[in-house]
Amino acid sequence: MRVLLIEDEKKLSDFIVKGLTQEGFSVDLAATAAGAEDRRLNGVYDLVIMDVNLPDGDGFSILEAMRREGDATPVLMLTARGSVDDKVRGLESGANDYLTKPFAFRELVARARVLLRPAEKPVDVLAAGDLTLDVRSRRVTRGGRRIELTNKEFALLEILLRNSGRPVSRAVLWEHAWEGSFEVDSNVLDVHMGRLRRKVDADSPVKLVRTVHGVGYQIDVPEGA
Ligand code: CA
Repeated sequence: MRVLLIEDEKKLSDFIVKGLTQEGFSVDLAATAAGAEDRRLNGVYDLVIMDVNLPDGDGFSILEAMRREGDATPVLMLTARGSVDDKVRGLESGANDYLTKPFAFRELVARARVLLRPAEKPVDVLAAGDLTLDVRSRRVTRGGRRIELTNKEFALLEILLRNSGRPVSRAVLWEHAWEGSFEVDSNVLDVHMGRLRRKVDADSPVKLVRTVHGVGYQIDVPEGA
């Protein structure tokens, strides 16, 4: 992971470079706005960490130029303590996050890692064991065998699979399958869940749908299955 650090305070930049390098990042340093511009035009970075006040300009101008040019590299701004204006201006200019000086190094690393986390790709096919649900084609199979579901059953299975291994509350199930209806009708929910369960589990020795008493339902693959 390549990081561009734009910071003119030598003590601070030495400390950040050393720390980030130890954390496995590859860090380039620019101590001026001009230096930052040069680095930025000649390198590709996964993250930019920038100080607001630089001897020959400010971080906002660099950030605004980046965003104007369509450069979407995540930017973490380092702002002076208590400067609300700086934070607001930074976020308005397109900063992804900011950190107020002085900060703990651990916090810098934690924030950097969040910004470097790749955007979650939308998943088209959800699965648990040999059960699959294709969100786009709306095809559901168990062990390769096609299962025909009603719209409600499909919605219930989808939210259960998206939370595979965790219980999904009755309220969440209801909200997902009966959009716009606020009052959970437990009988109706249980009837649909019962039908879904039969379609998914009746023909297989491995039961994937579980009742979580007092909560709702859960899908998981039993150990050893
Ligand atoms: Ca500074």
